[in-house]
Amino acid sequence: MKYLRRIPVLIPALCTFLAFFGCAETRSNAASKKNPESEVTTDSKTALDGNGNAIYAASYQPDRFDPAERVTRSEKQWREQLDRTQYNVTREEGTERAFTGKYWDNKKPGTYECIGCGLDLFRHETKFKSGTGWPSFWAPIEIERVETVSDSRYGMVRTEVRCRRCSSHLGHVFDDGPKPTGLRYCINSASLEFEDDSVAASLEQ
Ligand SMILES: [Zn+2]
Repeated sequence: MKYLRRIPVLIPALCTFLAFFGCAETRSNAASKKNPESEVTTDSKTALDGNGNAIYAASYQPDRFDPAERVTRSEKQWREQLDRTQYNVTREEGTERAFTGKYWDNKKPGTYECIGCGLDLFRHETKFKSGTGWPSFWAPIEIERVETVSDSRYGMVRTEVRCRRCSSHLGHVFDDGPKPTGLRYCINSASLEFEDDSVAASLEQ
């Protein structure tokens, strides 16, 4: 009976755990049954070039990227640059709560840059509705722009995704994403800064 009395305590604790670490949820456990791949929202989702890279709007040119370049800052500099949530996510491998970030439901055309170093990481053409409450992409702009690391915290084996240039923690990648890659990059909004295509175009004029 002692065990049964603990159940009301255990259930909220479990919900809290899933809210914080839910990035580990598979889409089938989350909302994929309600959000099948047919809900993928943009037209060019399945477009890949001959090298297997996503095809982006002709007007979009990714920023220069040298895979050997590294951006490093002291802890003091990171704390000055980032707000508390951004610091927790990118430097302490935290996870924002589902459905609370700025971009999980952002459908505007544009580029998602690293909050730490400004590197272009993801584009709207590869963003899809995962139902998880975090921005989800089936590919980065170039695979070399991110690095992956095995993460076995919290009793789960996951693949962590970091910015290649500044090592900011971005989120995790899972193999339950939509075509054409079958991958789901589950990324924290706090790791990203969105640049709207229309704003970028007006600045160039
Ligand atoms: Zn970065």
